[in-house]
Amino acid sequence: MIQENMEAVEHVIESSCGRAGRSRDEVTLIAVSKTKPLALLREAYDAGAREFGENKVQDLLDRIPEMPADVRWHMIGHLQRNKVKYIVGKVAMIHSVDSLRLAEEISHEAVKQGVEVDVLVEVNVAGEESKFGVSATDCTLLVEEIAKLPSVHVQGLMTIAPFTEDAEENRQYFRKLKKLSVDIGSKNIDNVNMAVLSMGMTGDYPVAIEEGATYVRVGTGIFGERQPRQ
Ligand SMILES: *Cc1c(COP(=O)(O)O)cnc(C)c1O
Repeated sequence: MIQENMEAVEHVIESSCGRAGRSRDEVTLIAVSKTKPLALLREAYDAGAREFGENKVQDLLDRIPEMPADVRWHMIGHLQRNKVKYIVGKVAMIHSVDSLRLAEEISHEAVKQGVEVDVLVEVNVAGEESKFGVSATDCTLLVEEIAKLPSVHVQGLMTIAPFTEDAEENRQYFRKLKKLSVDIGSKNIDNVNMAVLSMGMTGDYPVAIEEGATYVRVGTGIFGERQPRQ
């Protein structure tokens, strides 16, 4: 089942890139496994997935040793400062940096371990009260502050768009994040890259790709519906 789902998602990515006049290799699929059993992650790996996303530190710690070493892991969920030390050096990218204090902790831990850490700044573009992320207004200042920290490198922006039945409703937010990344990119801030736009989930990734996503984070579309966590 996983292989068929992966093929279907691949198909959608290709056609979305085609509609947007973008090359397929501009978009990277992150398989978001969350509560799913390890056996399904292995199936996704066998079907070609090499980028995996988790939203809990504990899931990363449990799964990294159990999966092949060439998997690139993405921390996509809210990260508490006291857990930073467990994942620095283990993940390819942290997508959920939304405060200077969190970035400082990542930098501190990176320096201590002698590693470099790539991060994305999470933006609450829709201004939803329930969501983490810096506001679009405060984003540029935050990026400028993080840029000064040693061993942490902003590679772009991330957003979690509102849950909606109609993906078209989220186009405005994807567009807004893209514009923000272009604006920040044009400032040519030292130690800041705006190449990555992590946006789009199962319900809206075709629209996100049309609006410039470079990472799409797909869970349900690959692994099926999730049961709530126990
Ligand atoms: C769960 C999750 C996803 C994937 O969600 P689906 O709707 O299942 O594709 C993507 N990004 C984040 C941050 C998530 O928590």
